[in-house]
Amino acid sequence: MQLAERMSLLGTESAFEVLARAKALEAQGKSIISLGIGEPDFKSPPHVVAAAQKALADGHHGYTPANGILPLREAVAADLATRRGAKVHPDQVVVVPGGKVTMFFAIMMFGEPGAEIMYPDPGFPIYASVINFSGALAVPIPLREEDAFSFRAEEVLGRITPRTRLIILNSPANPTGGVVAKAEMDKLVAGLARFPEVAVMSDEIYSRLLYDNHAHVSALEYESLRDRLILLDGWSKTYAMTGWRLGYGVWPAELVPHATRLAINCHSCVNAAAQYAAIAAIAGPQDSVEAMRQSFDERRRLIVEELNRIPGFRCIRPGGAFYAFPNITGTGLSSAAIQDKLLNEAGVATISGASFGSYGEGYLRFSYANSLENIREAMRRVRACLAA
Ligand code: PLP
Repeated sequence: MQLAERMSLLGTESAFEVLARAKALEAQGKSIISLGIGEPDFKSPPHVVAAAQKALADGHHGYTPANGILPLREAVAADLATRRGAKVHPDQVVVVPGGKVTMFFAIMMFGEPGAEIMYPDPGFPIYASVINFSGALAVPIPLREEDAFSFRAEEVLGRITPRTRLIILNSPANPTGGVVAKAEMDKLVAGLARFPEVAVMSDEIYSRLLYDNHAHVSALEYESLRDRLILLDGWSKTYAMTGWRLGYGVWPAELVPHATRLAINCHSCVNAAAQYAAIAAIAGPQDSVEAMRQSFDERRRLIVEELNRIPGFRCIRPGGAFYAFPNITGTGLSSAAIQDKLLNEAGVATISGASFGSYGEGYLRFSYANSLENIREAMRRVRACLAA
């Protein structure tokens, strides 16, 4: 068989590979604490499950419009108006099976040989993977510990060339938990006025998971960006619905037909019952969202404190998402070596910082979407393993 050459350009998300290795070790009888994959350890809210069951009982078994059912797109628009003060027309919303799909569509829409797309590094690995797949040049936006992993607007603007088509932003961020500073975002948006042909994709999938005094700065709030902004959000993290495969993009009107056509070519539409559940999640009671956030906050405080007690580790307090990203250079080990050592010798699954881009070398990602008890035990094991 002869595969298309572009298949060799596609990367992966090592969280899924670590998960597979962790499962294989568990199958051999080893005890593994999973701080690898980024997935809430809570169940989806009961009223959301009930809405899906009702949709199935009511006979919603067929195709839906490719961009999503209207009541769901209206609910998304209403939610964005309340939560982000943004006026979005329901026709700008394209419902897709997971946050990743908006990302894939946006990158494939702009990426081709000769084009450049900027992405956060360290960042969600699928950005660079799909940029490479599209044939475009992936240009990193370095995120540094000393900036609490927020970008430097001047640096981003300085890397724009006549070939730059799209800039990807992500706050709160995976894998760092970093939150973009409003002043930096203001500066970036002001500077982008000089580059009106450059589009922006803002991945705000962790927007409801913020701690301390951090407030969410949404790219939607900037009027001057609106005709070239793609907002990526979804239900996976906010409502503990990763397995339902639900996400949405808010697209500039002129890009909606392209996003819809990609959907028609790819998945036709999102599972109908899941769309009804999505309405219940977004328009229904939000207490479970806040309860999860508080629970994550408690775990965040514990894990950061514990990580800072491990010789060779240094961890700043992340402002959002559910990841801690300690600097591990003091151990003398590479990120990949420490990931393997902790998995094989301590039974703790983590993800090497280098798998999020070259600026992630020297760091390790811990997802603290696990119980306080498991986090305590994992930290005890890590300390013991590194001391041995
Ligand atoms: N964007 C970021 C930054 C993520 O971390 C993730 C998942 O880990 C996604 C998007 C994809 O979310 P989904 O599972 O809804 O496709």
